[in-house]
Amino acid sequence: MIDPRAYPELPELMIVGPGELHPEDLAALGHQVVPHFGDVWTQFHTQVLEQLAALLGAEEMPYLIPGTGTTCLDAAIMNLFEPGQRVVVPNTGFFGHRLLEIARQQGLDAIEMPVEIGAPIDPAAVADAAAGAHGVLCTHVDTSTGVRHPIREIAEAAYQAGAVTMVDGIASIGGELASVDDWGIGVLVTGTQKGLETPPGLGIIAVGPRGRARMDARSTRPPSWYLDLKIWEDYRREWAAWHPHPVTMPTNLVLALGSALQRILADGIDAYVGRRAALAERCREGLQKAGLEPVPQPGTGANLVVAMYADDPPAIQKHLVGRGIMIAGGLAPLAGRSIRIGLLGRTANEQMVDKLLEAIGELP
Ligand SMILES: *Cc1c(COP(=O)(O)O)cnc(C)c1O
Repeated sequence: MIDPRAYPELPELMIVGPGELHPEDLAALGHQVVPHFGDVWTQFHTQVLEQLAALLGAEEMPYLIPGTGTTCLDAAIMNLFEPGQRVVVPNTGFFGHRLLEIARQQGLDAIEMPVEIGAPIDPAAVADAAAGAHGVLCTHVDTSTGVRHPIREIAEAAYQAGAVTMVDGIASIGGELASVDDWGIGVLVTGTQKGLETPPGLGIIAVGPRGRARMDARSTRPPSWYLDLKIWEDYRREWAAWHPHPVTMPTNLVLALGSALQRILADGIDAYVGRRAALAERCREGLQKAGLEPVPQPGTGANLVVAMYADDPPAIQKHLVGRGIMIAGGLAPLAGRSIRIGLLGRTANEQMVDKLLEAIGELP
């Protein structure tokens, strides 16, 4: 039996989420448990939602829902669309494929749009594919390739074709800029354990005006009570002063999230994302100097995940573990052919990137 208080010591994490916690967030997480109702709680919960709204560029208050990012992908798709409706899904890699699976499992008529590995989605192709469709389901950054897709242009192309866009921002938010209202995104989903530098366990849904209009126009309720956003809205309104959510919130996770958001928003999101971009560039350039090729085409590399082609990923991973660093291997469609470095949480800094590069430089 492993005693959870004496979990074996791990190398420092540079996997693609979860990241290690910053000390101040760990302290917030380690606070004695607080109740999920009452004056102090509702004020704190509201403050966290306001921070999220600012981060995501959404005028509407986002939803914070226990579960993971995928819980909220399920919810977002279920609340936007009704069975039989057609959605276009660019297959950007492992997580693009997951969106296709979720849509099919919900009874949608999901059309797969091929995307070349390493290339950004072409908005003109979306415009063609989306004609006559109700929606476009799209990853912002697909963690399997480390490519950042041009969401603003995709959302505009979808809108011109009459479709509403649902964005999986789980691997982008906290590391990339995104603005739900200004970019015309219908609904954006993210989770806590990647760029938001909090433990896994919460999902976030931000609804833009186009998403709200679509939800208001639906003729049936979603087939899940827990994931029906109208239920969440009702509690928000009717129980506002006491318990503004229909379930027990994991209060300590919300405390940690509030602490992380304070750091992320401290000098403005533009400055913060600028620093993440510079760190990712340092990492990518160093790995290129060491002879590895990036998966993303130039100018499309993401800020929270650096994906590089590699001949023998397990050998690199094993060597790095020997030097005290854990990175991730490849994920379909690049399983066995790539390594992925997560630049999030406490280890996302220049010293760690340089330590990683030095260790990679020792390899033949
Ligand atoms: C990690 C990730 C997911 C899965 O998120 P969970 O929180 O594990 O449900 C989905 N999409 C993308 C792009 C991801 O990076």
